[in-house]
Amino acid sequence: MTTPVYENFINGHFLKNQTGDTFAVKNPATDEVIYHVEIADEFIQNAAIESAKQGFAAWSAMTPIERSRILLKAVAILRDRNDELAKVEVLDTGKPWQEAECVDVETGADVIEYFAGLAPAQVGQQQMVGNDFYYTRKEPLGICAGIGAWNYPLQIACWKSGPALAAGNAVIFKPSEETPLGAIKLSEIFIEAGVPAGVFNVVQGAAEVGQWLTANPNIEKVSFTGEVGTGKKVMASAAGSLKDVTMELGGKSPLLVFDDADVSQAVSAAMLGNFYTQGEICTNCTRIYVHKNVYQQFIDELKTRTEQNIIAGDPMDPEVNLGALISKKHQELVLGYIDKGIQEGATLLTGGKALSPVSAPNGYFVEPTVFVDCKDDMTIVKEEIFGPVMSVLVFDDEDDVIQRANDTHLGLAAGVFTKDIQRAHRVIHQLQAGICWINSYGNSPAEMPVGGYKQSGIGRENGIETLDHYTQTKSIYVGMSNIESPF
Ligand code: NDP
Repeated sequence: MTTPVYENFINGHFLKNQTGDTFAVKNPATDEVIYHVEIADEFIQNAAIESAKQGFAAWSAMTPIERSRILLKAVAILRDRNDELAKVEVLDTGKPWQEAECVDVETGADVIEYFAGLAPAQVGQQQMVGNDFYYTRKEPLGICAGIGAWNYPLQIACWKSGPALAAGNAVIFKPSEETPLGAIKLSEIFIEAGVPAGVFNVVQGAAEVGQWLTANPNIEKVSFTGEVGTGKKVMASAAGSLKDVTMELGGKSPLLVFDDADVSQAVSAAMLGNFYTQGEICTNCTRIYVHKNVYQQFIDELKTRTEQNIIAGDPMDPEVNLGALISKKHQELVLGYIDKGIQEGATLLTGGKALSPVSAPNGYFVEPTVFVDCKDDMTIVKEEIFGPVMSVLVFDDEDDVIQRANDTHLGLAAGVFTKDIQRAHRVIHQLQAGICWINSYGNSPAEMPVGGYKQSGIGRENGIETLDHYTQTKSIYVGMSNIESPF
């Protein structure tokens, strides 16, 4: 059976490359190639820049309310095609249908809707200076690049294009080579909704294509989602042409469970924050600090629920709630971390092995894994694993656990479970993280800014402030009287 070959999406249509080079995309749950994608060669890269220049000229000349109307049409199409798009995400990522069906497309559409609504409300300032005055305009930046990770491909494409397009920019987006189809589907939807050709272009390929985007002097901003190490390379390259950057990077986030917490709720949060999307979520609470008074109760319930309630298998089966990891290579990496945890003396409470479910025997599955008796200096406690591997640690003292939670170069997210309202806020205010939850974990509505402290990121996505990061302020001084000049 021949598989489809997708071309790059440039200037409103698919465009064939000249080299003929392609790469294969596999379904992580079956290990089968499901389609091929053409790599963006020099011809495509040049075409993408020309296309985005033309797209920018047309789009930025429209009023914000016109742009808003068109983007809202795209939102409606996204929602209409929810199931078709969710299936694309399941086949590309290996995540369970039961997640993609209600989260991936939905949260992507929400963000475009949010920024479409905000766009016409963006205003400048005006101020008198004596008899003269000045005013400011919020102008778009020009061509913005988006570079995405593979865990939420369509959602990331929506989160980057929503504010960029609402503010009047053109976008060239590069999805991860593991998951290229969601962004292609989005590009078609934008055209169908009436976004002019050239405003949203998709280029395909691996790091070299990303490097081209970050170095290209025609591009004004790069919004990147990926690993910390790649983020550093992207930022260094972007510095060559002084591009603005937004960095959404990795994490090793703590969840603190105090002894007055609702333990069952805390276990729910810990499981969501480690096993949802088979652990491939940047904000995951992979370090769970539990107060010694409720430690045993917490791990007993955690073990029971992990062993009884998790169903791994064909991700398209609506009963399945644990999917396959993105690739064989990533599965091996995660299993390597598990071995390291055992070698370094952590106790395996449950899981720890590769899985081969009957309905998806060739998929890259890993058992939901919980380590207890962990120590702060263990590799599994320090490094981002990006798989279903949870480390549980015990604590006694509030100040001490805050210090331990903050003892990392990462600072993406954090959570606290306690019924003491004063302690909840006191503790969360001291945690060095950009996205925090109290008696909750993982919710990320369009309205709420998200991004990291320390090496977990720069800038924010979502929330009102993000629109400002896709505009630049022009100040215009207006003289109302004769110029006084010594010349
Ligand atoms: P990577 O950093 O490996 O890749 C991210 C993207 O960058 C991919 O499209 C990749 O291309 C591209 N890329 C790779 N090298 C370069 C380069 N030198 N210049 C420009 N682009 C490049 O991340 P993963 O895809 O492995 O995603 C997992 C990581 O993403 C985790 O660390 C996770 O925490 C983080 N993440 C952060 C989120 C946040 O919001 N903070 C959300 C989701 C994930 P290709 O893959 O095709 O080679």
